[in-house]
Amino acid sequence: MKKVDVFINGEFRTPFLNRYFPVINPATGDVIAEAAEGNEQDIEWAVESAVKAFRETTWAHDKELRFRVLNQLATLLRDNLDELTELESNITGRPIREMKAQLARLPEWFEFFASVLKTHGTDSPPFSGDYINYTQRIPLGVVGLITPWNHPLLILTKKLAPALAAGNSVVIKPSESAPVTPSILGELAKEAGVPNGIVNIVPGYGAVAGKALSTNKNLAKVDVTGGTETGRHIAAAAGFNLAKVAAELGGKASVLVLPDANLEEAVNGSAFAAFIATGQTCVQGSRIFVHESQYDEFLERFVEKTKGLKVGDPQKLETDIGPVISEKQYRRILDYIQIGKDEGAEIAFGGKSLDGKGYYIEPTIFKNVHNKMRIAQDEIFGPVTCVLKYSTTSELIELANGTDMGLAMSVWSNDIRQAHNLAGKLEAGIIWINDHHRIDPSSPWGGFKSSGIGLENSIKCFEDYSKIRNVIVNIQEKSFDWFDGSAQVKRYS
Ligand code: NDP
Repeated sequence: MKKVDVFINGEFRTPFLNRYFPVINPATGDVIAEAAEGNEQDIEWAVESAVKAFRETTWAHDKELRFRVLNQLATLLRDNLDELTELESNITGRPIREMKAQLARLPEWFEFFASVLKTHGTDSPPFSGDYINYTQRIPLGVVGLITPWNHPLLILTKKLAPALAAGNSVVIKPSESAPVTPSILGELAKEAGVPNGIVNIVPGYGAVAGKALSTNKNLAKVDVTGGTETGRHIAAAAGFNLAKVAAELGGKASVLVLPDANLEEAVNGSAFAAFIATGQTCVQGSRIFVHESQYDEFLERFVEKTKGLKVGDPQKLETDIGPVISEKQYRRILDYIQIGKDEGAEIAFGGKSLDGKGYYIEPTIFKNVHNKMRIAQDEIFGPVTCVLKYSTTSELIELANGTDMGLAMSVWSNDIRQAHNLAGKLEAGIIWINDHHRIDPSSPWGGFKSSGIGLENSIKCFEDYSKIRNVIVNIQEKSFDWFDGSAQVKRYS
């Protein structure tokens, strides 16, 4: 069985309390690893190690080193993809085909942010008088990365790659449900040449290790992905310490099917949006809006498509839907299915759990749903989606925007003018047209409203992991003494 220890200053250690908790395979209920229960003391040591490494190694100053190491880390990740894919599928229950497709892209993040180091310059803003003025981009210092279970490596990579590229040191608190692969990424970072102490990892519970990290006064930034309530707590703590915050939080993504859409593409896209990762993604298409003229036909075809999805063992290549992550989530999702029925929505397909081992729930489609129902508003985070009816475009915009969340939406239409106009009116940070859940390291990712603050991916994210120093150089030929009384020039100080 795999043992996940605390990783501090480049070494694995037993946690202060010498206690470990089980990591469960959600497909079987078996314990597949035990992870260190890191506490406040472990976080303290990890932050101390990160501060020391930031000050005493060349990491923060040596861009060439960071460029080489990040590219080497991309290579090592590629070499280890098979092991990581199998492990991550066992830990999250995500079907192996999905996991392969997702993890194969991870090296791109390290390569993209390495290339930013070679291309991203600073500037020389105009300055009145005889001065040369230039900016320097420097790392923030120690950054806390707090990550969820649904994409353990992808989400960590989205934070770690820009944080390291910008020259910071990090302390990572991975999800208690999925700490194994983040720990391996720490080892690979060391093997790639990241100096000891620049990457530290403390597995543990959110309420203890996560809280201790987000409230630590030595952090310059906290970057969290998680639920909206978690994000609020972390942002409040970081705000008190005047640390920067990035928070990628919950979602309730809408899928907008316009009357001119190619219905087959819209059905396939909706099934992908709703059921990829067994519905456990922040951009899950959980509200599908279809014009009243096509509602019945769409629903019939969508149900037919969903019937064909294979629920089962995530390790089998043909599996489309795996188990949900934990017993707690399993019960929560089944509760929401009951809430939907109690609210008066009808099940068009699914709605039940599967007998036997593992936390399996059928892909579930609700019809006759109203926008105010809890199943249309709350993030369920499972294989449950709602199909809603609309009659006019203005009603569609109001309905789609009628949620507290604002992470992502997709628009399905063949009328390019209408699709673009609509995209401009939607309250979400990411809009796909004729697609759903596409991502790239160079393309900004972040939520509006209660879905978060800050960005992942893109040059802007790299910039957010650094700060600017302005250097103003006096090149006047005459020396200056204000107190000799001769100066006539304007002065703004
Ligand atoms: P949680 O909010 O439960 O946890 C996220 C992380 O925060 C975990 O490491 C958790 O530890 C930790 N944590 C929990 N409470 C605290 C606290 N008080 N202080 C500090 N840290 C804490 O999210 P899940 O892991 O359940 O992930 C699912 C959520 O993540 C969904 O809401 C989903 O929408 C969101 N998400 C958002 C994405 C985006 O890009 N916007 C992408 C992916 C997911 P522990 O594991 O021990 O609880």
